[in-house]
Amino acid sequence: MKSEELFIESQNYLPGGVDSPVRAFKPYPFFVEKGKGSKLWDVDGNIYTDYCLGYGPLIMGHAPENIIKSVYEQIQKGTTYGAPTQKEIELAKMVVNNVPCADMVRFVNSGTEATMSAIRLARGFTGKKKIIKFEGSYHGAHDSVLVKSGSGAACLPDSSGVPEEATINTLSVPFNDEESLSSLIELEKDEIAAIIVEPVMANIGCIQPQEGYLEFLRKITKENNIILIFDEVITGFRLSKGGAQEYFDVTPDLVTLGKIIGGGFPMGALAGKREIMELIAPCGGVYQAGTFNGNPVSVTAGLNTLKSLDYQFYNDLNEKGRFLRRGIEDILDDHDFNLNLVGLASMFQIYFTGDEVKNYKQAKKADVGKFGVYFQELLKNNIFIPPSQFECCFLSKSHSKEDIEKTLESIESSLKLALK
Ligand SMILES: *Cc1c(COP(=O)(O)O)cnc(C)c1O
Repeated sequence: MKSEELFIESQNYLPGGVDSPVRAFKPYPFFVEKGKGSKLWDVDGNIYTDYCLGYGPLIMGHAPENIIKSVYEQIQKGTTYGAPTQKEIELAKMVVNNVPCADMVRFVNSGTEATMSAIRLARGFTGKKKIIKFEGSYHGAHDSVLVKSGSGAACLPDSSGVPEEATINTLSVPFNDEESLSSLIELEKDEIAAIIVEPVMANIGCIQPQEGYLEFLRKITKENNIILIFDEVITGFRLSKGGAQEYFDVTPDLVTLGKIIGGGFPMGALAGKREIMELIAPCGGVYQAGTFNGNPVSVTAGLNTLKSLDYQFYNDLNEKGRFLRRGIEDILDDHDFNLNLVGLASMFQIYFTGDEVKNYKQAKKADVGKFGVYFQELLKNNIFIPPSQFECCFLSKSHSKEDIEKTLESIESSLKLALK
C-alpha cells in the first residue's frame, strides 16, 4: 500500500506525518493523487466520494472547470503583486452586497487570521479587553481562542505553549444557555469587548442555535456595548449567500469568513460595519497586514465561485441535503438505531448518542469508539467523511443523486457494523 509507505516516510519529515492534526487517522491516512467533482483519488487507486471537501471550502466540488480556467488565466499574469487590484474591489462588493453586516472588507489568508484580526478590531473599537467564546467553538489556531476549542483541539483541554497570560481575557460559556451568558455579562460587562460565536457550531459536530438564541446574543451585546462577531468561516456562503446571518436573520457587527470565500485557495476575510472597519490600518490605528492579503489568485477563484452562487444553486444543494438526511433518518428508524442525526442546508453529522445535543458537554457524550468503526467502514466502502465525530460533513454541487443513494447504502451497512 503506497499510502501506508508514504505515511511511514512522512512521519520522519512532518510532525505526525501531516500538516494539520485532524488529517492523521489510524492506521494511516490515504494520500491523495487528485480530486475531481465529488471524488477523491488516492495513490493506491481507490476512488472516494468526498463529504469532507477540504473541511468546508469546496462547495462546487473538486477542481471545477470554470474556476480552474479563471485561475489559469490569472497566474499567467502574475501570482502576487504587493499592490492592489480591481478584482479585490469586485470581490469586496460581492461580500458587501450579500452579507448583511458587511459595509467594508479586509481580505486575509485564513480563517485563523480573520478571527485574530476581528478580535483585535473589537478590542480597538471598544477599548475593552475581554472576549467571550462558547465551549467547543473553534476560531482557528491562535493563542487567545485556544480555550475549550472544538475541531482538532477538542480532545485537549488547551494547547501547551500558550501562556496563561494569552488566554486570561478569554471567557467561555456553554452554547444555547441564556442564563450562563447573562450572569457572566452581569459580572464583567464593563470589560467585555466582544462575543465571538459560530452561529452553527460546526467544529464540535453540528449544533444549531435554539430558537431565539442568536436574537438573544444580538440583544444582550447591543445592551452592553459588546461587539457581536459571527465566525462564519464555515457557514458563510454555505447556508446561503449571506451566510448564517441571512439564514437566521440576525445581523452581527462583524463577520469572519474563510473556506468557501477562497474558491478552494487559501483566503479569509473580516467584514462589518463601516465605523468599526475604518479603524483598520492604514485607515485607523488597529494594525492588520499580510504579504499575501487579497492575493490575486485566491481572489480570482473566490470571485468566480461566488458568481455561481444564486438562489437556484442553494435550492438544489439544500434539496440534496434534505434528501440525504431523510435517507439517514429512515435508516435510523428502520433499525431502531438510537443515534442523533443533525444538520441543515448542505451540512450533516450523526452523533453516536441517543441524547439531544445542544452544547459541547452533550456532544462529548458521543461514543467516539463506535463513530471510529463507522468512519472506517465508510472508508472501506469508498466514502470519505471527516475522521472525527466532532467535525461536520458537507455536500457540494458535484454530488449526484446516485452518489447520495450509494452513500446511504454504505451508511446503513456501516452503522449496522458499528452498533452491533
Ligand atoms: C476552519 C475554521 C477557522 C479557521 O480557519 P483556517 O482557514 O483553518 O485558519 C475558524 N473558524 C471556524 C468556524 C472554522 O471552521
